[in-house]
Amino acid sequence: RLISPARGSAQEEALERALRPKLLDEYVGQEKARGQLSIFIEAARKRSEALDHVLLFGPPGLGKTTLAHIIAREMGVSLRQTSGPVLERAGDLAALLTNLEPNDVLFIDEIHRLSPVVEEILYPALEDFQIDIMIGEGPAARSVKLDLPPFTLVGATTRAGMLTNPLRDRFGIVARLEFYTPAELQRIVTRSAGLLNMQMVDEGALEIARRSRGTPRIANRLLRRVRDYAEVRADGVVSREVADDALRMLDVDAAGLDVMDRKLLGAVLEKFGGGPVGVDNLAAAIGEARDTIEDVLEPYLIQQGYLQRTPRGRLATGLAYQHFGLPQPSTQGE
Ligand code: ADP
Repeated sequence: RLISPARGSAQEEALERALRPKLLDEYVGQEKARGQLSIFIEAARKRSEALDHVLLFGPPGLGKTTLAHIIAREMGVSLRQTSGPVLERAGDLAALLTNLEPNDVLFIDEIHRLSPVVEEILYPALEDFQIDIMIGEGPAARSVKLDLPPFTLVGATTRAGMLTNPLRDRFGIVARLEFYTPAELQRIVTRSAGLLNMQMVDEGALEIARRSRGTPRIANRLLRRVRDYAEVRADGVVSREVADDALRMLDVDAAGLDVMDRKLLGAVLEKFGGGPVGVDNLAAAIGEARDTIEDVLEPYLIQQGYLQRTPRGRLATGLAYQHFGLPQPSTQGE
């Protein structure tokens, strides 16, 4: 997938780092999460304490990693970054924790994928800033308690529902990130275009914003491709028409749906008569992992009103029929 919101190549990641806002004031949108965090950060700073543990959840590319870095910077501390699948053994986590400085941020991406043994170690670390580690083996093995400096865990996950209850309960601050509005994405695109020294007309920025699936990562990636197109075809100036041509070439349609979106909706409509269809059947029909459908594809399609999640499966809405130019069956009772 050309413009997948998942992490990309080394080159794309370098671009992402360069475009990442560094302070809370530069972080566009997410008023609720931003408002909450600014108060808690200021309070923790005044008391010279570590910020409460923070859980960030929402689809990929909405700014969870960015926010974790901003939290560390606003707190004036360092950030250590790891991810759930990388921490295989208890010792991996213990090594990270014992190297933290007071009030540092430990960022664990994909925190729902921690192994149970690692999660066990994390509980007392989060609650009492202590860990129990086993030294030795067999009858001579004994457990040793180590004190840790106070720290802030920032955990990120695509779906809060995938966390175990005891882990979720240990986060004092829980923020859900939402899809961005076109106006918010337009601000992000305009800012990025400035950093990339691009010539961009307001309507060009809005066109990219409108067609980026509500996701800053996708907006920035499309921007880069549009820049290439504009340089070759339009003397580098991104007007609305140039943006539209480039996006069409990238198979992003006028409503902002990409190839995978249309494949998924097309399957629901044409192979399953509009649904309801279970997510496993859908995954098999389009050759995508169930997780990709649930984490990446359908949240946006549901938010935009193309798809509904019902107890019996996924159901195409009137808007989906309309988008494909198909007549909506009257028996569907919507
Ligand atoms: P996630 O961790 O949720 O997958 P990231 O934090 O890596 O997402 O964000 C992807 C890119 O989108 C970042 O490089 C950043 O440039 C941009 N971005 C995300 N959120 C914002 C925001 N609120 N304002 C401006 N740019 C953002």
